[in-house]
Amino acid sequence: MDRYAVFGNPIAHSQSPRIHALFAEQTGERLDYQRTLVAKGGFAEQAAAFFASGGRGLNVTVPFKEDAVDFADALTARAQLAGALNTLALRDDGTVLGDNTDGAGLMLDLARLAWTPRAWRVLVVGAGGAARGIMQPLLASAPASVVVANRTLEKAQKLAARFASEGPVTAVALDALREPFELIINATSSALQGEAPPLADRVVAGTTCAYDLMYAAQPTPFMRWAEQKGARQSSDGLGMLVGQAAESFALWRGKMPNIEPVLATLRESIR
Ligand code: NDP
Repeated sequence: MDRYAVFGNPIAHSQSPRIHALFAEQTGERLDYQRTLVAKGGFAEQAAAFFASGGRGLNVTVPFKEDAVDFADALTARAQLAGALNTLALRDDGTVLGDNTDGAGLMLDLARLAWTPRAWRVLVVGAGGAARGIMQPLLASAPASVVVANRTLEKAQKLAARFASEGPVTAVALDALREPFELIINATSSALQGEAPPLADRVVAGTTCAYDLMYAAQPTPFMRWAEQKGARQSSDGLGMLVGQAAESFALWRGKMPNIEPVLATLRESIR
């Protein structure tokens, strides 16, 4: 059976084996997908051993998304721009391609929600790896503008400069945000401290859609905050998680799975 795995540290919480098993069942593909705890600093060695022993593809999660860029023989344009990847795929010539499907996963989920960023003012809060992964597909969806705001302004400025060639992106300090946005994406990890990122009320209006990359059984602190401020709708990032996995699966197997039933199963199981 073709072998796949997700490499990360920690990894016990990963839903990826479950998601890929559901995709395989749905599409009639036969594959084995395991989660692997990789020691910090040990990514390249373990990834090389995995492919040398016949492995076909990897998902890569925290903290190895940058290490994986150095490991790949070639990168898709979006992985190169992000400087981070979440998918490695063995090619017919024996080389390994690196891709970043996080942003495509987000766009699939926005489409599912019928949120269409075309001509919208978009705010991305956070400037870490997840923000880098979503920037290119977001800018390609022709928003009116994308503003990046981050606790550490310098990181937001670097991110905006990195993607300046892809569309209208600017960086501002969190406390300098003055106007409402049609779409606010929380790409911070502040929920780990049980908090919403510190945003002024005025960034939310009745037209605002609020998307949290984080997911949880209950609405996240950011979703609750946005709803309290009168946002039109809010969503967590479980659909993005399933979407990025679907894009990886399609790259590996040449078949795009149907996301909705897998998302429904997962939602039920994390309740
Ligand atoms: P990083 O550690 O790379 O970046 C964290 C970001 O959060 C930084 O911009 C940091 O700001 C900011 N931040 C952290 N704590 C706070 C706080 N209390 N207030 C304001 N800002 C804060 O993390 P990632 O980018 O890798 O991940 C971010 C989130 O995205 C995580 O919750 C992760 O689970 C989620 N994610 C979800 C995916 C999905 O498929 N749904 C895919 C990938 C990620 P500063 O620069 O100032 O430190």
